[in-house]
Amino acid sequence: MILDFLLPAPCVVCGRLPKPLCEDCETRAQISISTIGSIKVFSAGLLEGDLEQVVRSYKDKHRMALEKSLRELLRVSIEAARQLDHFDAFALPPRNPSNYRQRGFSPVERLAKNPALSSLKRVRISASRRLVDQRGLGFQQRKANLNFAFSAQPGSGNILLVDDVMTTGATLQELARCLRSAGYGVSTGCVVANRSASDLRPAKGPEFGGF
Ligand SMILES: [Zn+2]
Repeated sequence: MILDFLLPAPCVVCGRLPKPLCEDCETRAQISISTIGSIKVFSAGLLEGDLEQVVRSYKDKHRMALEKSLRELLRVSIEAARQLDHFDAFALPPRNPSNYRQRGFSPVERLAKNPALSSLKRVRISASRRLVDQRGLGFQQRKANLNFAFSAQPGSGNILLVDDVMTTGATLQELARCLRSAGYGVSTGCVVANRSASDLRPAKGPEFGGF
């Protein structure tokens, strides 16, 4: 992965040298707000085309040079949410140990090292039981997999949910449930990219993974 920084690398989208993501293929943030359950979700782009390619290359092919672009998209998404609401803290989905072992890093934790979050403290979420890898699961299966899967220490305040991508929204919904039952308020989530509403259908191939 370090080669990205030392040698000219072909663009992960168009294949041209010398940058891992050329200016033509870099996604410019386009904020959209969707609703999943009672949560407003801010997203900087749709999980399709060039952006999907970049997210996949980063999360599943360890193209760490793409991290800067994705972190910037997340920053814009979070700033948009913070203009409309006040948050006392943020929360991320807990690590899925098998995904973490496989990847060697946690995409969402790395992207959350973000200037837009530096003034907020983090509420820790733990996984209350073992979860299967979410990739390849449709909405109902993900919901069942995540049902009462997370827990948080009791507390109060308004919490901003942060994730890298939203595929079915099941992860954000479980995060909101566990935080609310611990006493927090939750109304908003921010992601780099989400699937468009018309795309929320059963997976037709490998899906983005879990958390
Ligand atoms: Zn390109």
